[in-house]
Amino acid sequence: MSTQLAGPRRPVRRRFCSNQTRYSFVVEPCPERRSFADPDNELPTRDTGLPELPEIEVLRRSLAPRLLGRTIERIEVLNPSLREPVDGEALSAAATGNRIVGLGRRAKFLLIDLDSPHSLVIHLGMSGRLTLVQDDEPRERHEHLALHLDSGHRLRFRDPRRFGLVLALPTEGILDDRHFNRLGPEPLTNDLDGDLLERAAARRKGPVKGFLLDPRVIAGVGNIYACEALHRAGIHPARSVARIAARRWQRLAEEVRATLEEAIADGGTTLNDFVDGEGKSGYFQVSLAVYGHEGEECARCGRTIRRIVQSGRSTFYCPGCQR
Ligand SMILES: [Zn+2]
Repeated sequence: MSTQLAGPRRPVRRRFCSNQTRYSFVVEPCPERRSFADPDNELPTRDTGLPELPEIEVLRRSLAPRLLGRTIERIEVLNPSLREPVDGEALSAAATGNRIVGLGRRAKFLLIDLDSPHSLVIHLGMSGRLTLVQDDEPRERHEHLALHLDSGHRLRFRDPRRFGLVLALPTEGILDDRHFNRLGPEPLTNDLDGDLLERAAARRKGPVKGFLLDPRVIAGVGNIYACEALHRAGIHPARSVARIAARRWQRLAEEVRATLEEAIADGGTTLNDFVDGEGKSGYFQVSLAVYGHEGEECARCGRTIRRIVQSGRSTFYCPGCQR
């Protein structure tokens, strides 16, 4: 069930500053870079940043070496109010005294496999943060849940906006559960290719941008990455899926994967104070070609990048090189 990435790591174009402090490594946008004020407030801010798939994958890779082999001594539910109420008894029964044997991911769900018949499922929703801290670290506001480990750490789940999710499910057949069974293929695997997109688009109409965001088509492609992948593939975001040729579907599939892989290599893109499992701040920005760049020149063709709103969400694109 875990998704392993395949293929060579691409060269990463970095464009951020960093500063190392004694206790944490903070990466922040360079001060001279433009600010990300968004006209329709859709862009994530420090409080409302939406973790996307690359952030979850970075979190998974960062947590895995620290969690694997550890025993969960106790689960503490401090505030059960999340997207679905947290069932503390079910979590404790599933996990207490059990060892963590795997850390997987499906779409934006983290799956903590235990040496029991159960796995813990965690979704960060819109503002959830999962960090591994020393167990004696003081509680923070909005701390909903704590997994106390035999390493003297606790895995802390905070979620100011409470759209997150934490539950225990039987590991056997877990992907048939209602939370997963309608999700499309993982974009980082070979399951995503031009044929898959072309088949999914058959008998459909509607703009390709919305199609890419549909989790039944591909699991976990968010707004930022859909815009970037369409630009890289040279496809206009409003183009109907009924009017895209096979070779262009193939190109789009490749660019979706490449966009996500580059963001993962950069350590996560979301423009907020997302914190990965080591307490590193993911608050930095990879080189986005169109997203957030309305009014600027397209690096590929020089035309001015535009913003339109599709289904209530901002789409950034270049009218010169996206057809
Ligand atoms: Zn262009």
